[in-house]
Amino acid sequence: MAAKQVIGIDLGTTNSAVAVWQDGKAQLIANKYGARLTPSVVGLDDAGHLLIGQPAHTRLTTHPHLTQASFKRYMGSEAALRLGTQTFRAEELSAILLRQLKEDAESWLGQSITDAVITVPAYFNDVQRRAVKNAGKLAGLNVLRLLNEPTAASLAFGLLENREQKYLTFDLGGGTFDVSVIDMFEGVVEVRASSGDVQLGGDDFSEAICQWMLNQQPELKAALPAVKPILLEQAERLKLALSNLPEASAELIWQDRRWCWSMNEEQLDHCCQTLIARLQQPVMQALHDARFSLQELDHVLLVGGATRMPLVRQAVARLFGRFPRHDLHPDEAVALGAGVQAGMVMEDAAVEEIILTDVMPFSLGVETAKESYGRLEEGFFLPLIERNTWLPVSKSKTVSTVADNQTCVLLKIYQGEGRRVKDNVYLGEMNIEVPPRKAGEVSLDIRFTYTLDGLLEIECQHNESPNASRMVIEKVPGQMSQELIEQSLQKLNDLKRHPRDRQENRDLLLRGSRLFEVLLGEERAWIDNVMSVFEQALASQDERRIADVRQKVYEALSQFDERGSK
Ligand code: AMP
Repeated sequence: MAAKQVIGIDLGTTNSAVAVWQDGKAQLIANKYGARLTPSVVGLDDAGHLLIGQPAHTRLTTHPHLTQASFKRYMGSEAALRLGTQTFRAEELSAILLRQLKEDAESWLGQSITDAVITVPAYFNDVQRRAVKNAGKLAGLNVLRLLNEPTAASLAFGLLENREQKYLTFDLGGGTFDVSVIDMFEGVVEVRASSGDVQLGGDDFSEAICQWMLNQQPELKAALPAVKPILLEQAERLKLALSNLPEASAELIWQDRRWCWSMNEEQLDHCCQTLIARLQQPVMQALHDARFSLQELDHVLLVGGATRMPLVRQAVARLFGRFPRHDLHPDEAVALGAGVQAGMVMEDAAVEEIILTDVMPFSLGVETAKESYGRLEEGFFLPLIERNTWLPVSKSKTVSTVADNQTCVLLKIYQGEGRRVKDNVYLGEMNIEVPPRKAGEVSLDIRFTYTLDGLLEIECQHNESPNASRMVIEKVPGQMSQELIEQSLQKLNDLKRHPRDRQENRDLLLRGSRLFEVLLGEERAWIDNVMSVFEQALASQDERRIADVRQKVYEALSQFDERGSK
């Protein structure tokens, strides 16, 4: 029996894409508009129907109150993102997008899909990774694997040039910056180290240009925030134009007045200097952790839409003393890599020999107290798993009770590199019950495991308990509870979808298309007719008419079903 099809999804800040492993290679699939990239934008039309991808993107500036973009930046936070009168979490908006991507893949493949690999920025923390998994769950997807974005791109590149080599993948997308250092040998793609910045991407360059525009025309500041979406759109246009031209202009009509700007490369360079400077540190850290020198690298690979900026390319060339390579399409490399990983998950023979090893770019540990001048001072970070160790990794530590008759031990978990926990990301805490004994008599073995997905699992066992128990981290800021997930599922199901996008109608449209493919001559023309009638009914959005026509179409297609089934 053929392995169940798994899809690879690049859930990007700006655009998303889906790839599948077919005929011995990763291929991007086209969405229902025939495009390989789907804008990561979700909105509502004036009748309250969901708009996803391109149709939502076109309304970003005209209907900002009904449209949301770049919501990936809020993954794993409690930010309430507004669509009209309703608010959504980033997970929910991502789920709406993922559901669309899944449906597009189903139409393209002609089969239903349940399993997926989804890529995440390497620098996403535990809470953000769980948020992506939850978004998948809300979209009806079984997320088999989370794959770091630069690792995905590196995998796609490694397959393209399957030879011994060392390279650095420099991935600057819309909202995040990731760097990975790769050592490739004998079919092994080994990620030696990753680093990055989750708050740095192409959108920040647009924002910097937007600030420059406001400084040029300070009177416009009084019109904020109303004018901001249009201004940002113009800033984005300037940025894209300056990737091809030495000078570009923008204009905006606001309250019957025309506002004009002209920007050249030098001005762009000047206003983005702070952002460009932030690219260096993650590169240096990744090289340091990989124990590679700049000279040892065979090449530097550019990935992510924002690496199209000449400014970024020049900065990379200066930093590495050589021109970077851009063999892979910057917008498609991550999805293609996800497609390769999907093939690996399906245990396809063509990728059977490839071994991929990955790392987590940050350290993980707990809060401890230290003795200082005879008293205990709290707030210090004790790393348990150091950054850039291979996944999966498992480490344990033993702690003891410090007070007589202590009944619980509170473990606060952090992720980061700071000496003090206040400089790191708080992941949550755990209260571990212990039997009341004299101080120091109860010892606890705490085991931290980073899974292949980069998720944290914790097991705990005290010296009087026979078995280790798996612990759930509590009080995790920004994490959805099971109850919240159930509510969200209901909320997403209740959202109005255009009749064309609803499952029962999509299934019938798909059946009709399949029959059109297999039949010939008069029968084919007849099916074409039947489907046109159905499409007209769907376009009318009249539920009674749709239900009536759907029943007739269903009966009509059933006569041919044997031949139409794939
Ligand atoms: P990604 O998340 O990889 O799709 O990258 C999206 C980011 O790339 C956005 O911030 C875009 O504005 C930026 N981008 C795409 N094309 C260009 C271009 N030609 N010049 C400058 N930035 C670009």
